[in-house]
Amino acid sequence: MRTVFAGADSDYRNARYVISGVPFDATSRLRKGSSAAPHEIRKNSYNFETYSHLFDIDLLDIDIHDAGDLEVAQTVDETLSLISFHARKYVDGGKIPVMLGGEHSITLPFVQACKNKYPELGFIVFDAHLDMRKEYQGEMNSHACVLRHVFENVTKKFVFIGTRSGTREEYEFVRENGIKMFSSEEVLSAGIEAAVAEIREYLACPIYLSIDMDVMDPAYASAVGTPQPYGLMPRDVRDVISCFAPYFVGFDLVEITPSYDSGGTALLGAKLVMDFIAASARASQVPAQPF
Ligand code: MN
Ligand code: MN
Repeated sequence: MRTVFAGADSDYRNARYVISGVPFDATSRLRKGSSAAPHEIRKNSYNFETYSHLFDIDLLDIDIHDAGDLEVAQTVDETLSLISFHARKYVDGGKIPVMLGGEHSITLPFVQACKNKYPELGFIVFDAHLDMRKEYQGEMNSHACVLRHVFENVTKKFVFIGTRSGTREEYEFVRENGIKMFSSEEVLSAGIEAAVAEIREYLACPIYLSIDMDVMDPAYASAVGTPQPYGLMPRDVRDVISCFAPYFVGFDLVEITPSYDSGGTALLGAKLVMDFIAASARASQVPAQPF
C-alpha cells in the first residue's frame, strides 16, 4: 500500500495543495539516492501531530491531496518533459504544487508552470550552492545548472538564501547580473530578519519557494547529495516560510539522500513540508490578500 503524506486526505478535485514525489536522481554524482526521498519524507510525516500550534491550524482541515510519485525516465530531459505536464495541470487548475524531490534539476518545470500562470513570479531558493553552471559533466540540465535556467529563462526576480559554494565563474555571473543573494555568512551574522526585511521590498508578488536541503548546516541535515559545512539553522528557513506564506504559489524540497540518513534529515524535511502547508493555509484565511 502506498503511503500518503500525513493529513493529505482530500481528493484531487477539492484540493488546494497537491503533493507529488519525483523519484529522480540521475544527474547526482557525489551521493546518489535522493530518488528514495519522497517515500522517506512521507513516512516521517507521521512523526508529527497534524495540528500545528505555531500556525494554529490542523492539516486535516486543509484540502491536501497526495498524487503519489510522478513517472520519471532514464534521462533528465525526458523526465523534465514528463513532469512538466503534471506541473502545468496542477498550477493551471489553481492548485499549489508541493513537490518532493529527487534532485534539484526537477525544480525547473514547476517554476515554469507557475511563471506561465503568474507573470510577475518571484523565486526564492535556499541552497548551499549556486547551481548556476552552464553545463556540468556534459549535462545542460544537471542539478548543478538548474538555477541558471530559472534565472535566464523563467524569472529575474530571484533571491538566493544560505549560499556558500560555487565556482569563480558562477559567483561572477551572480555579481554581473546583480542577483540578490544572502549568503549563509550574512544570515548567520545579520540574522534572517535582515534578509526578510529586504526581500519584502523586493518581492511583493507571487513567489515560488525551492528548498535544497543542503542549505542547512550538516549538523541538522547531513543526508544530502552534496553536504556543505557552515550552513543555516532550520528556524532560519521556517521564518522565511512563515513571513512569505501569503505569497507562495509553489514549493519544493529536494536533495535528501535517505541512505545517508540517521533519521534527522528526512524528519526535518517532512516538518518543513508541513510548516509550508500550514503557514500557507493559515495565511489564506486572513482576509487581506496581497495579490
Ligand atoms: Mn541545488
Ligand atoms: Mn545544493
